[in-house]
Amino acid sequence: MMNERNQTESVLSVKNRRTIGPLGFISAPLPYSHVLPALANMSSPPESFTGDWITADHPSYSKAIARWAANAEHRAAAVAFVKNAQDVAIVLNHAKQHKLPIAIRGGGHSPSGTSSIESGIVIDLSRYLSGVTVDPTEKLAYVGGGAIWETVDKTAIEHGLATVGGTVNHVSSFR
Ligand SMILES: Cc1cc2nc3c(=O)[nH]c(=O)nc-3n(C[C@H](O)[C@H](O)[C@H](O)COP(=O)(O)OP(=O)(O)OC[C@H]3O[C@@H](n4cnc5c(N)ncnc54)[C@H](O)[C@@H]3O)c2cc1C
Repeated sequence: MMNERNQTESVLSVKNRRTIGPLGFISAPLPYSHVLPALANMSSPPESFTGDWITADHPSYSKAIARWAANAEHRAAAVAFVKNAQDVAIVLNHAKQHKLPIAIRGGGHSPSGTSSIESGIVIDLSRYLSGVTVDPTEKLAYVGGGAIWETVDKTAIEHGLATVGGTVNHVSSFR
């Protein structure tokens, strides 16, 4: 009997094959990407993951995959709201083990769609890694990877400082 890993690999091995349609045309690749998350058992987070693991059956899934631009939204297999670098490493290993694509979400503002991924795992920095601290003496800001300009601006202003960033303050400060 095939175990889960063997099943995943056997599906993956034909993922990029193209089939000859009834009239001899080469058809689009088979939609195996929709099968992969189920085989990889995405419903529960990888062991030792401390963040929030959101899959399609969770009430906040729609919010988790929402982006500033509707065209940038993709139905990810899981959204991992990471809490620290260790969580990021765990998710990367999990994705590698199951051969799933990943995307990183900072502010979720880019209309390009690269902060989300169909049937893959999104490493989302916006929930827990969006803090900003300012050292007024050195005039340095320490900015989380998921921070938006609004947080940077407000924190800097508390110290009588200003940044030279964008004026649309819901854009990520990572760019
Ligand atoms: C209304 C509007 C106004 C804008 N105004 C400006 C402007 O004034 N100046 C300007 O320069 N741009 C502007 N932009 C462009 C915008 O800044 C870019 O789309 C930017 O990429 C948004 O960053 P984000 O992190 O919010 O987006 P996301 O969609 O979260 O990320 C964009 C890309 O960066 C990657 N990424 C994000 N954070 C990280 C991270 N911490 N580590 C690794 N990868 C990461 C994502 O994977 C993705 O590929 C504007 C866009 C819009 C829609």
